Amino acid sequence: MSARPEPPVPTVWLVGAGPGDPELLTLKAVRAIRAATVLLVDDLVGDAVLRYARRSARIVHVGKRGGCRSTPQAFIEQLMLREALAGERVVRLKGGDPFIFGRGGEEAASLRAHGVHVEVVNGITAGLAAATSIGAPLTHRDHAHGVMLVTGHAKDESTTLDWRVLGAAAAQGLTLVIYMGVSQAARLQAGLLEALPAGTPLAIVQHASTARQRSALTTLGGLLDTLAREGLGSPAVLIVGDVLRGLAQLSPPVATQAA
Ligand code: SAH
Repeated sequence: MSARPEPPVPTVWLVGAGPGDPELLTLKAVRAIRAATVLLVDDLVGDAVLRYARRSARIVHVGKRGGCRSTPQAFIEQLMLREALAGERVVRLKGGDPFIFGRGGEEAASLRAHGVHVEVVNGITAGLAAATSIGAPLTHRDHAHGVMLVTGHAKDESTTLDWRVLGAAAAQGLTLVIYMGVSQAARLQAGLLEALPAGTPLAIVQHASTARQRSALTTLGGLLDTLAREGLGSPAVLIVGDVLRGLAQLSPPVATQAA
């Protein structure tokens, strides 16, 4: 007598869609997207990535597209849970890497707390793609012995970063990669300038790895002027540090060298 097969464990795949260029998807990510029956998709995930989804898959956009407010986090978590418990193959597709900002950790914890198994598939995070797209190594034996990935946008005021302290760490020879920093540019610039020279090289890379990519090379002191002059905005990564020295020019449209 054969034993009855165990019902499949409800599972959600948290998948990194990378920075935008579909060629930067991992093979694992493509496989998970192809197998999905339900996909919950973040704002920053490019449409090109969704070409791998089955035609029959249900695709739910949970970002701020079309000027709508982003879907409340609790709703996203409930939807994932409901669909997984209903036996759907749920993929939560997130920009970059699921565990670098973007609340992947919170979603995994919430699902696990409800007994759902979570599989995480890495993606190339925006900071790595941004640096590579302008030809800058994030570490270099002569300039930087490490990298800090930080967000300019904390959950609330009490968790706000001390930019002076981060600047002091950067001065020890660490490259600073700042996500979600554009709206906080004035504050982070002021803090960093307490520890770093105004002439410290700084790059702004918007829409890294996509056809819409724009970038500018400036200095810490020139950050605000460059943002305004070039009209650069979110989604962008700021890179600060000596690894940028020697980059004579940046990828299109123009290199900007501020004082
Ligand atoms: N999990 C994502 C980050 C999510 S937070 C990752 O690993 O990349 C969202 C922020 O990421 C944006 O505000 C921006 O700072 C950055 N970002 C995401 N995609 C980007 C891109 N293609 N180019 C530049 N910055 C990007």
